[in-house]
Order: sequence, then structure tokens, then C-alpha cells
Amino acid sequence: MDKVILIKYGELSTKKGNRNFFINTLYHNIQKKLSSYDVKIHKDRARMYIEFLEKDFENIKNSIDKVFGIHTYHVATIVESVDESIQSKLLDLIRTCSFSTFKIEVKRSNKSFPIHTMDYNRVLGGLLLKNIPNIKVDVHHPDLWIKVEIRDQETFIYYESFSGCGGYPVGTQPKALLMLSGGIDSPVAGYLAMKRGVVLDAVYFEAIPHTSIEARNKVIDLCKKLAQYTDSISLHIVNFTPIQEQIYKNCREDYCITIMRRMMYRIMDQLAVKYHGLAIVNGESIGQVASQTLTSMSVINEVTNQPVIRPVACLDKLEIIDIARKIDTYDISILPFEDCCTVFVPKHPVINPKLEICEEEEGKFSYQMMIDDAVESITTISISSEMEKEFQDFL
Ligand code: ATP
Ligand code: MG
Repeated sequence: MDKVILIKYGELSTKKGNRNFFINTLYHNIQKKLSSYDVKIHKDRARMYIEFLEKDFENIKNSIDKVFGIHTYHVATIVESVDESIQSKLLDLIRTCSFSTFKIEVKRSNKSFPIHTMDYNRVLGGLLLKNIPNIKVDVHHPDLWIKVEIRDQETFIYYESFSGCGGYPVGTQPKALLMLSGGIDSPVAGYLAMKRGVVLDAVYFEAIPHTSIEARNKVIDLCKKLAQYTDSISLHIVNFTPIQEQIYKNCREDYCITIMRRMMYRIMDQLAVKYHGLAIVNGESIGQVASQTLTSMSVINEVTNQPVIRPVACLDKLEIIDIARKIDTYDISILPFEDCCTVFVPKHPVINPKLEICEEEEGKFSYQMMIDDAVESITTISISSEMEKEFQDFL
């Protein structure tokens, strides 16, 4: 192997006390992602590097691009730490590049290397100027910024830089439960929560026969997209039909959505305990619909003691759509299968609901047992990004 992928950590390098924990979590996440390739992964406090086979590069790159905690990475060529070898490899490499201006930055952790850093900068810069026509040095805005890191046995030469997806490694925070619908917002919310290192289980409320198997499959497909950023995600499917039917049978039409959301939150509250989640995550966005005004949110939130994290609360729809496109969930989200929130939409849902009215309406049927039943009869599927379509159809 004469190349390595050199990973720089970015934001996690600011976590002083937790640094080792962050680095180890990132290391394990990368190791799991690359388990089917012939790679060797090395880590130290400043960076990680991966030895790989060149034929696997594109696949490895695609995998790494979905690991949170990586700020930038480079593909470095390795050469022995001997002046002649470095010069000859550098020239071979740079001859294949197209550029007009360049900068050389030598780092020398091997203090026994006979030429000092500043001198070697000049030696290598001179080598390129002498051998490659029509180029010049620009130390401020070079087209090509070449780094040469001289280590004990080997030297890394690199000039290409790739952006990682940033954030913190998944697993550096405990678990939260994501309310995952088939819409645009909740997959984006899940992605953003994972980006902060949160481990996710997903919860989907379905109301068969009012909602379809296609709607469930859509949620499974969204979950598969999210699972690319982690290992696998447990998707808990709640049978919401009996509760939803009772709400629409017994409660004031304009309060149905508010009450439905309070029932969902009550179930989420219990599921958080059952599955050891420390928070609820969802795709609510302030003012987007009647149930997401601040008044609605406060009345709905009143039934749970769990922290509710709303990663897209302050984003415009277009900003959310941009992220949905980037993470490739948008085209799935816009498939036209109805969700339980959309099947029974009242003509004029209340925008400023009153808590007393919610409680009065909820008093018209006994919901607690139904909630317990819903929690009791959950179906859980473990979703990985590679889950077979045939298996999905079988569920
Ligand atoms: P859209 O992108 O069309 O707004 P949405 O999924 O955001 O879709 P909303 O009605 O805005 O739908 O719901 C707000 C949030 O409530 C969702 O983002 C999701 O987190 C949660 N939610 C809604 N319906 C469901 C459901 N059937 N199962 C799980 N969570 C749901
Ligand atoms: Mg929404």
C-alpha cells in the first residue's frame, strides 16, 4: 500500500477531556463501516490514517463521507523518509497536476532528517520551479497546496483535500427517539441529531387501514437512508389506529390534531423509558402548520417530561428541503402516500389551543389503556442501509 487516507478530526479536537472517547468512537465507527475492505486503521491524538487498496478507493470514500466526526481528509502518497525518494516521488506526482501557482508546506516530526524544515521547503519548491514550466509560488492563494510530512520511517505527500460531513461521531451521545414520519422534515431532523453524535431509534405511528403499507415502506426507505450514517436503526412501529379512530369519533373536530399529537407524545414518553432514550427528536418547525405554533407546541409538549429536540424548529422549509436533497431523502419523502397526520385533517385546525379544552375533550374516551396497548404491541424492525428490498416486502 503506497497511499493512505489521512483524516483530520475537526470539531471533536476541541473536546479536551473527552478527546480519547471521541477518537475511539470515531475509530470504531470507521472500522465498522470499512469492515468488508482490506484496510488498516491507525489513530493518534491529532489524526487517523487508513491504509487501503487502491481498487477500493471509491467505495471507501463513499463510506467515509457518511461518518460524522470527520472534518477533512486527504489522500496521501507514502514514500520512505529519504531526501532522494521524496524529491523523485514529489516530482512524479506534481507533474500530473494542472495548476499555475503552488505552495509547499513541509512538516518534520522526524528531527533526525538531515535538512531543516525551512530549507527543505526551499529545496522542494526549487525542484518544482526548475522542472515544471510556467508555474510560480503563491503562499496566500495557491492553486495547489502541497503538504510534505516527514515522519520517522515514511513521509506523506498530499495536496488533495476532501470535506467530511463534520459533526461528532455517532455514539458520543446517548440514545434519543426520533418521531419518523414519511414527510420531508423528520428525516432531516434525524440526520441533524445524529450529526451531533446522538444514537437514534425511530418511531413511526401508523393507522392501517387508513394508511397504507406503501406509507410504511416509505418510512423504512427513509430509515435506510438515515442508517447510512450509523450502523443500523431500530424502527418501532406503533399501531395508532384505535386511538386515532376514538379521537375522531369523540373529540371536537378543530382539536383533533392537537389531541392526536398529545397522544403521540404520551406514547413517545413511555417509549423513551422502554427503549432507554433520553430525549424525543422530531421534525416540528415553528409556525409550519397549526399544530406547530408556539401555543400548540406548548399545549402538546405538556404531556411529556422528556426533553424534546427539534433540530429544524427554526429553519425555513426551503432550507429543510436543501438538506433533504443533500441526504437523498427528498425524493422518497415526496412520494404521495398518506401519513396518519394527513388522513384526517380537520378543515380548520385550532391555531391557539387551550389546555383546558384539550383535557375536556380527552376526557370523552378512556385513552390510557389504549396507550398502554399501543406501547405493548409495538413491532420493531432493525434497519440497515443494505437491507434487502425482498425482506422489506416480506415485513
Ligand atoms: P412534512 O415534511 O410534510 O411537514 P412532517 O413529517 O414534518 O411532514 P408534520 O405534520 O409537520 O409532518 O409533523 C411534525 C412532526 O411530527 C414530524 O416531523 C415527525 O417528527 C412527527 N410525526 C408526524 N407524523 C408522524 C408519524 N406518523 N409517525 C412518527 N412521527 C410523526
Ligand atoms: Mg413538518
